[in-house]
Amino acid sequence: MRKYGLFIGGEWTETGRGARFPAVNPFTAEPWAELAEAGQGDVDAAVAAAVAAQPAWAATNGATRAAILNRIADVIVENAQQMAVYESTDNGKVIRETGSQMLFAARLFRFYAGYADKLYGSTIPLDSPTIFDYTLREPYGVVALITAWNSPITLLCNKLPAALAAGNTIVVKPSEHASVSTLEFCKLLTEGGLPPGVVNVVTGAAETGAALVRHPDIAKVSFTGSPGVGRKIASMAGEMLKPVTLELGGKSPNIVFDDADPEAATIGALAGIFGATGQTCVAGSRLLVQRGLYNEITERLATRAQAIRLGDPLDPASEMGTVANQPQFDRIIASIESAKSDGARLVTGGGAAKGAHLGKGLFIEPTIFADARNDMAVAQTEIFGPVLTILPFEEEEEAVRIANDIPFGLASGIWTRDISRAMRLVPRMKSGVVWVNTYRMVAAQAPFGGTKESGFGRERGEAGIMEFTTTKNVMIDYSSEARDPFAIKN
Ligand code: NAD
Repeated sequence: MRKYGLFIGGEWTETGRGARFPAVNPFTAEPWAELAEAGQGDVDAAVAAAVAAQPAWAATNGATRAAILNRIADVIVENAQQMAVYESTDNGKVIRETGSQMLFAARLFRFYAGYADKLYGSTIPLDSPTIFDYTLREPYGVVALITAWNSPITLLCNKLPAALAAGNTIVVKPSEHASVSTLEFCKLLTEGGLPPGVVNVVTGAAETGAALVRHPDIAKVSFTGSPGVGRKIASMAGEMLKPVTLELGGKSPNIVFDDADPEAATIGALAGIFGATGQTCVAGSRLLVQRGLYNEITERLATRAQAIRLGDPLDPASEMGTVANQPQFDRIIASIESAKSDGARLVTGGGAAKGAHLGKGLFIEPTIFADARNDMAVAQTEIFGPVLTILPFEEEEEAVRIANDIPFGLASGIWTRDISRAMRLVPRMKSGVVWVNTYRMVAAQAPFGGTKESGFGRERGEAGIMEFTTTKNVMIDYSSEARDPFAIKN
């Protein structure tokens, strides 16, 4: 059994201190690590450490910050395989995905290292010729990063290197359902040369997160999680007039037109819903298929879904691992049962997956419902599991209407070989991300985030670092004129 304390001021708190909770391996159903539940005093200590470290970190020149971020990237690459083992053991995601996610985390560190010495302001010509006006991009100070359990290191690294490059110091709170990889990540930060106190990690559940959001020295909150908790965080932050970035859930439409390449669209649909066992915010969980390809795509998907290799998340041959935790498993099974009773046609799957090689693991069969209506819960609610809903449509207008008729707005996919159609539809998709003839693709350079109940703010790309800076405007009057104190000067 691994034992973890909290990571505060570059030190680990004693593992015997305070309340503890287990990390449960969703493949073996056994506890495999013991974690500390941070109380108010621990949150205060973590924030105080970040406050103490912030001026020196912000004053460290950009080139030095960049060098540290690049060294951390090297250390991540060196430890990628072991980190992937921690994460897959903790949340049941297959190692072929967590392995590539660790390398992407390193890529994000390198990408934002490149910004650390290039956070330029502007010089702005004003009406008045003797005023020199310029802007500075400054860090907020101490920021709180709160993440979900489905991809702890990816979600953290969508935020952390950008926040660091901009000169902020950090307190992180990972999900209580998958904290180990984030705690292990602290060791890599230290090895990479990050000064003590610049990043601090507190573990625990809702109360720990709320204590962090409400802390008066937290200047900004960046949150990844469910819309329900996102609302609570926005309200708490709103009370204190703190800025927040919210990366929330989705129920994304993936639209296949009759003129699409059926094989490519099938693979895109599979990646969209069964990649990461469907536990991804961008899951293409609503597949809209035009009538001409409807039966063919449904049959192709059923055949492919039945062939997916479920297995030990640590086995490189496994294609789908477990669901990450028992509450999530129970929610997915309940959603499947309600879809059946609502009258969606079950094409394949439909329950827990069993087998000698699956042991006590929280496996769910790749599940497809077809002939659904858009007003059914299975077409409207984020299930966050391997459950696909296929909806037929006749015409382009109908596809746009169904695609946007959802409270979420994270991602959409369009499969067509008609470039005019693609160009026509991209502006009409009410989502922060649109993929054309691809799905679930990410890049360090490309901004990511949602609209509507999927949240606001962006991560990755240049937009991602701007979320962690604030603009200061400076006016210098170099005339020697006396001015009228009772009239505004412009
Ligand atoms: P969740 O909202 O239950 O928890 C997320 C985090 O918030 C956890 O660390 C949790 O402990 C913390 N938390 C819970 N209550 C809190 C409170 N009152 N105050 C402060 N913190 C609190 O989400 P989850 O179940 O961990 O993750 C699944 C959700 O995350 C899905 O909706 C999924 O779509 C979303 N998600 C979004 C993205 C994205 O980038 N848009 C990425 C991954 C996951």
